[in-house]
Amino acid sequence: MLRFKMVESALNRQVREVVAPSARPSDYFGEKVFGRNVMRKYLDRTTYDALIQTMDKGTPLSAELADRVAAGMRQWALDNGADHYTHWFQPLTGGTAEKHDSFSDPDGKGFVIESFSGKVLAQQEPDASSFPSGGIRNTFEARGYSAWDPSSPAFIVDTTLCIPTVFIAYTGEALDYKVPLLRAMTAVGEAATEVCHYFDKNVSRVHTYLGWEQEYFLLDESLWAARPDLVLTGRTLLGHESAKNQQLEDHYFGAIPARVINFMKELEYESLKLGIPLKTRHNEVAPNQFELAPVYEEANLANDHNQLLMTIMDKIARRHHFRVLLHEKPFKGINGSGKHNNWSLGTDTGVNLFSPGTTPAENLQFITFLVNVLAAVHRHNGLLKAAIMSATNSHRLGANEAPPAIISAFLGTHLSSVLDKLARSKDDNAIRFDAKSVLRMSGISQIPSILLDNTDRNRTSPFAFTGNRFEFRAVGSSDNCAEAIITLCSIVAEQLREFKREVDEKIAGGMKKDKAIYEVVKRLIKSSRPIHFDGNGYSDEWKQEAKRRGLDCETSAPLIFDNYLSKQSVKMFSATGVLSKVELEARTEVKWETYTKKIQIEARVLGDIVMSQILPVASKYEAILLDKVYKMRQLGLDGEADVALLNDIQSRSTALHRLVHDMVEARKVANRIDDQREKAILYHDTVAIFFDDIRDHIDKMEEVIDDQLWPLPKYRELLFIR
Ligand code: ADP
Ligand code: MG
Repeated sequence: MLRFKMVESALNRQVREVVAPSARPSDYFGEKVFGRNVMRKYLDRTTYDALIQTMDKGTPLSAELADRVAAGMRQWALDNGADHYTHWFQPLTGGTAEKHDSFSDPDGKGFVIESFSGKVLAQQEPDASSFPSGGIRNTFEARGYSAWDPSSPAFIVDTTLCIPTVFIAYTGEALDYKVPLLRAMTAVGEAATEVCHYFDKNVSRVHTYLGWEQEYFLLDESLWAARPDLVLTGRTLLGHESAKNQQLEDHYFGAIPARVINFMKELEYESLKLGIPLKTRHNEVAPNQFELAPVYEEANLANDHNQLLMTIMDKIARRHHFRVLLHEKPFKGINGSGKHNNWSLGTDTGVNLFSPGTTPAENLQFITFLVNVLAAVHRHNGLLKAAIMSATNSHRLGANEAPPAIISAFLGTHLSSVLDKLARSKDDNAIRFDAKSVLRMSGISQIPSILLDNTDRNRTSPFAFTGNRFEFRAVGSSDNCAEAIITLCSIVAEQLREFKREVDEKIAGGMKKDKAIYEVVKRLIKSSRPIHFDGNGYSDEWKQEAKRRGLDCETSAPLIFDNYLSKQSVKMFSATGVLSKVELEARTEVKWETYTKKIQIEARVLGDIVMSQILPVASKYEAILLDKVYKMRQLGLDGEADVALLNDIQSRSTALHRLVHDMVEARKVANRIDDQREKAILYHDTVAIFFDDIRDHIDKMEEVIDDQLWPLPKYRELLFIR
């Protein structure tokens, strides 16, 4: 359509020049963060030391010290141009929430005083009634509190000091992602520390690390604005495939267009100032698709950084007349977007527990942790899938181009054969002790060298071991990473505790420690075999095979959410202290509700587009054709081709009328249901099923109706930023 092309090319010329800083990144990195170097300047020694203790070890901070921290933080914020502050938290809606308060208060006598106390820093009561709580606040008490999380530093965005906080109900239940994330990191940290003590008594803490890779699409703002589906749902509900899309594979790692590069530069500059350690950027496989990734950090901070990045991406994109799409599947027929979560555990003595060592003892420790992760993922594979499932990510999972909707773990040929060898070997020839009592495992002394250059890559696996970490690839691009990390940490915490119990029992029964560990490891290798799959996750054979192995193969999102409330999940989450049954019920309720709302909005938007844009244009074109055929017939010509076209458009129009009508009726039925789970299931089974058929008719019409009349920008216009 001419109109869109003109607007787009006008914008394309308008490349925003970037504030290219002449300084080096090291000069401005973290300049908007109340980090340790700044704290040292703004806090007295005692306060600083106490705060560091709180940050590193979780030692509580007294009210008096909190006051002093608040005073220092406020001064720093004022010195850096801030005039407001906010508690920044992550409600279950996804995204982040903030309510800004001014640092200054009128004192009623014509003066303004600047107020920001330790109490205000530590706790707030946001007007929380409009955040989803899955009924927790209705059942118990209407209030919700946000409370300071000192382990993630405060930062300044524009002129607002943002204080990372948790968000909890008056009765203590978590209403956000951060609370369970912190609990899960504690649980896995403690359980892992105990297991580490078999190998090294010096370990006193185990940390969880996360390195995310964020994929996204960029669209020209004017074209985006002309598509109600993109504006309201974040994805295209219709649109015929472009003749050229990603088949030439010319986009991945290709040259980045100037307009995009300028956006990326500004995003990097702003991110680095906020202490987000961005490191890589490149084109992704699909046209207009890109990825960026930071250096990994401790998981709570890494997740805050991802949340923050998603917000500032959107802001900066607008400055460049772009819109960022974080939806997992904005376009049909080309790749969707994910957010790989690279996850590892590391000790305070500097050892990555998923990194093969250089001595057999280190390797037994490595194998121990590896195998416990496999066992946990095996037992809770359904739950892990629930953790990354959503209305939006369900388009991507199992869609033959992304991780399948079945959780399995990839290990690569070398590691697989090491585990097989271990499991098969007889105790006596597999472990021996040398003069220094160092454990040796015959036949696997080659582990270190082999694993370190293990470059096996299997892009079809949802959960892959990649040499020194696990890469959870099934996470959606718009997800809060916490959900995946909470689940991973919790299930591994439970498994490590059980492992410890079993090993200790054997030791108590007189078995040598290393042999006891080795025996349990062997048993776990065998019992968790079904989760291990190195083949092609996209193949149909795998679906059959996975079913035979007893893995969760459910594809319906509302039913997948049931995994949160299974007996074993409730038991695991409560044993690890991460989520109580009430919290699980509430969170699952929110998941069902959100699912329903998303499908409901899509159904409405699709219906509107059909009725108010597509069908009127079809009629217009039909009228033109009819007129032509009528006149041709007057001249004695038959107009056969046009009649065939008319019939085609007319039958599709009739079908669209009927489908939209039936979809509306299905929605009415579903809307009468009160139970959130049942409603979500109905939306999945009886409403969403219309989308493909409706789209199919529209996309076929798009191919034959006059391009000048077509009311929406097409894929070929949307997808190629020049
Ligand atoms: P690829 O696209 O090949 O998977 P990238 O370099 O894009 O790799 O991203 C890898 C991510 O993994 C980065 O965020 C990196 O910091 C992170 N990472 C590397 N080592 C670890 C580790 N031990 N624990 C957690 N994350 C890690
Ligand atoms: Mg990756």
